[in-house]
Amino acid sequence: MRLVLLGPPGAGKGTQSVVLAKKYALPHISTGDILRESVKSGQPLGLQAKKFMDKGELVPDEVVTGIVVERLKKSDTMKGYILDGFPRTLKQAEDLDRAIKGAGSGIDLVLYFATSSAVAIERLTGRRVCRSCGQNYHVKNIPPKKEGICDKCGGELYQRPDDNEATVRNRLKVYEDQTKPLIDYYARQGILKRVSGDMGVDELFKVLSKVFSDAKLV
Ligand code: ADP
Ligand code: ZN
Repeated sequence: MRLVLLGPPGAGKGTQSVVLAKKYALPHISTGDILRESVKSGQPLGLQAKKFMDKGELVPDEVVTGIVVERLKKSDTMKGYILDGFPRTLKQAEDLDRAIKGAGSGIDLVLYFATSSAVAIERLTGRRVCRSCGQNYHVKNIPPKKEGICDKCGGELYQRPDDNEATVRNRLKVYEDQTKPLIDYYARQGILKRVSGDMGVDELFKVLSKVFSDAKLV
């Protein structure tokens, strides 16, 4: 099953990806995670990308598409994968299509997580992430047992530099301008399925499981 998760920042794509990847044994490919990893390890690519990420702007298409195309060459993607946060522009979508259709296998399904900006803003500005294991929390909705400390590993929780309100608003604007056209692009291909990103994690997961079985993907 080759999946694309589409939707605004804060729609819960990352959270669902983790659950789906586990249940269906598929690799979770998040361009945001890959970029943050290269920032952390101080790679030249990361240093270049950080300037864009901190402002809530998109990293240039060629950079991101290059990362994904390389990742898709690994053998663990043979049975499928979950693309989370990619493609985010029409150019990325077209280049992805060219790269994988050339290999004889297109995207099976695009899940569009429709989410209101109020929900997205509330989720993102309250999000806290574990520095060691990457687990996500929320100051109100999913608080850790001990403030500032990860329940799972005891690591320190921090706020992503792009999760402040001004940058979040810019990310949502960038999404409206550059990513929203992809809804039409995939709807025209007949592979778009709209779900509500405003639902809770478990509820949405159940909806998605049914979408896959109805579409005979599992
Ligand atoms: P979110 O979806 O919550 O904004 P991500 O972790 O997916 O967060 O992305 C964080 C940042 O990484 C984005 O704001 C952008 O700068 C960069 N990024 C991630 N994926 C892409 C992409 N496909 N194209 C361009 N930039 C990207
Ligand atoms: Zn942790």
